[in-house]
Order: sequence, then structure tokens, then C-alpha cells
Amino acid sequence: MAQQKNLEGYVGFASLPNQVYRKSVKRGFEFTLMVVGESGLGKSTLINSLFLTDLYSGSYPGPSHRIKKTVQVEQSKVLMKEGGVQLLLTIVDTPGFGDAVDNSNCWQPVIDHIDSKFEDYLNSESRVNRRQMPDSRVHCCLYFIAPSGHGLKPLDIEFMKRLHEKVNIIPLIAKADTLTPEECQQFKKQIMREILEHKIKIYEFPETDDEEENKIVKKIKDRLPLAVVGSNTIIEVNGKKVRGRQYPWGVAEVENGDHCDFTLLRNMLIRTHMQDLKDVTNNVHYENYRSRKLAAVTCNGIDNNKTKGQLTKVDTVEGMSPLAQMEEERREHVTKMKKMEMEMEQVFEMKVKEKIQKLKDSEAELQRRHEQMKKNLEAQHKELEERRRQFEEDRSTWETHQRILEQQRMSLEKNKKKGKIF
Ligand code: GDP
Repeated sequence: MAQQKNLEGYVGFASLPNQVYRKSVKRGFEFTLMVVGESGLGKSTLINSLFLTDLYSGSYPGPSHRIKKTVQVEQSKVLMKEGGVQLLLTIVDTPGFGDAVDNSNCWQPVIDHIDSKFEDYLNSESRVNRRQMPDSRVHCCLYFIAPSGHGLKPLDIEFMKRLHEKVNIIPLIAKADTLTPEECQQFKKQIMREILEHKIKIYEFPETDDEEENKIVKKIKDRLPLAVVGSNTIIEVNGKKVRGRQYPWGVAEVENGDHCDFTLLRNMLIRTHMQDLKDVTNNVHYENYRSRKLAAVTCNGIDNNKTKGQLTKVDTVEGMSPLAQMEEERREHVTKMKKMEMEMEQVFEMKVKEKIQKLKDSEAELQRRHEQMKKNLEAQHKELEERRRQFEEDRSTWETHQRILEQQRMSLEKNKKKGKIF
């Protein structure tokens, strides 16, 4: 079930732009986090505390609160916005994990889920339009270890061994407030010893050239597995409101570095190592998947692990060596590129034609307007000529009249003079 929420609290991923290019900042980030561990280890509570959400609440309880008989994989999506940066966070939960009497193979649904996301990505990679490839691959798996104080259970070892080639595993000691600081220290050492002994590859924090970053990385490495405390309750401690767990003898504060490694975990997940987790997923785990897929094709002809009924491009090529397969892919790619080029040229030609037609249209329009104006001017000219002729005519009539009047006046004067003399 996918749930989408907009959040308001400040989580801190606004500093993500430092990790990648501006381009991806505009597009937004996609990050998928998986939580695995037995029911009741505080997975839902920790997710709520990490992202200041109530992803799981009364109306939509955490997966472990819903009755499940077998292991299921569930996804919830949260859309978070902070300082113009958008993060689409997908939480993958595995309710029912380790809850059965016989837990053999309870990792299989988790493996299937991770593989199916790789498969989706592989399929979308072979499409022509790769610009908007949704990335739903699992970038990190938080593995919750019960705070028993006795080390790893066989199921923990088995799960991590089966998954370490597929996903970045970060081991966590759940409910760390149930251990004293000394017990917690001992427990951490014990777990790291076992991880080494069983050759389990957990997520390796990268060394960099930056001294400051190296210091942070060293601090995290020294504290692995991270001991976490989660809480959905806000408690007042010395006038300050904090997330914590109230006990008769005091408060275990979630975000207090002296109480647990929660802040360390949140900072590395969101602020400092999100991009690296994505890079390792892409460059190591996904590439492993891809080459395994190709190897399977060469060994068996047909890949037996293909996902439920989906025939992929890789599945269809029988008995080909990886090199031949790559060459085939390259050729396919070149053909696709050529096709795209042709399509683009066609579009370009069409656009040029459209533009020429538009120019022609506007030229004709201008010509038409010019003709119209010319006609108007000629008509005006004619009218003026007519009025001028009329005026000339009036003037000559008037002049004739004037002349007649003048003659009459002169003859009248003459007659008057004659009359005086006589
Ligand atoms: P989930 O089944 O793994 O998702 O576990 P929940 O988050 O539902 O937590 C199960 C119970 O453990 C709840 O009663 C929580 O209040 C409690 N819980 C969660 N986190 C912690 C923690 O860090 N310390 C302690 N002591 N209890 C916790």
C-alpha cells in the first residue's frame, strides 16, 4: 500500500544539494529505505522518529500491528519538502519477518522484492527514453538486532549473508535504552566480531580526502552497529521539549548523542551519505545483479530466476556469451540512436517547413495589407483630385461672377458720373 504525505517538520535533507548536482536537486531525490527485523523491535517508531512523520499512526498502524501469518513486503511513500528540495522517500517494511516458528527462507520475499526492483530498473534502462527513469531500487537496509546482549541470532547471520551482495546493510541495535552503556558497548563489540567472523559485508563508509568528513566517518565506524532509541512521545526535559522515553529513573532522549546513536544515523542517512548509498546501490549491487543476470543467460541459455512471468530482453537471448550479449546491446543501442536521430531530423525538417510556411503567410499578409493601403491611398488621392477640380470650378465661377459684378459696378459708376454732368 502506498501512502503519500506532505510533511512540515524540519528533518535536515535541505543540505542534500551539497551531495549532488543542482540538476538532480531540481528534479528531486528518490530514496528507498528498507527496515528489517522481528516484530516489536521498534522499526515503525524509529521511522517516525527519523522523518518526523506519523507514517504509521492509529488509523494506519505499523505493519507489525496488523495480523500477518507470512513475511510480506510493504511499501509506503512520503513526499517531503524542505528549503525547495523535494525528497520522495519510500519505506519498505517486512512485517512477519522472523515471527514464525520455522523461519527458514523468510528472507526470500525480501530478496524477491530487491531483485524485482533491479529488474524494473534493468527494463527501463533498455527503453529509448531514459530521461525519466524511476529509481525504486532499495538503497539501504536497516537491519534491527534485538537488544539481547548475547550477540547475533542465526537468523540475523543468515539474513545478512544472503542479502549483503544485494543491498547496503546498516546493522542497528534496536531499543538500545534497554541496555546499560557498558552492556551496549560489549554487545556492539560482540556483534562486530561475529560480522567479521561470518564475513558479512555491511555498508562500508567511504574514505575521502576531506579530513572533516573522515572524522565523521571514523566516528560512525567506531560506533557500529549503531544503537538506536525511537519514540513517538515528546517529553519536557529541563524546559526543553524532546523526543524520548520516560522511565521512573529518568528519560532516554532519542536525539541525545550520549544516550544513543540516533542522531548519527539520521545525519548519515539524510545529510551525509544518502548519495553514496545510492551510488553504491547503482555501481556495486545493481551491477552485480546485471552481471549475474548475464552469467545466468550464458550458463543456462535461459535465466531460471526470471521474475513472475516477465520476459525481459536478457531472457530472450539464448546461449550467448556476455561479450556477444554486450555487443548485441551496443548494436541495439546504436540502432536506437540512429532511429532517434532520424526522428529528430524529421521533427527538425517539419519545424523548418512550418517556419517557412509561417514566413510565407506573413509575407502574403503584408503584401495584402500593402495593396489595401495602396488602394486606400489612390482612392483618397482621387477624391482629393475631385475636390480640387470642384474647387477650381467653383473658383472660376466665382471669378467670373466677380468680374461681371466688377463690370456692372464700373458701368454703374460711369452712369452716375454722366448723370452729374448732365
Ligand atoms: P515494529 O513492530 O518493529 O514496527 O515495532 P514498533 O515500532 O511498533 O514498536 C513496538 C513497541 O516497542 C512499541 O510499544 C514501542 O513503543 C516500543 N518501542 C519502540 N522503540 C523503542 C525503543 O527504542 N525503546 C524501547 N524501550 N521501546 C521501544
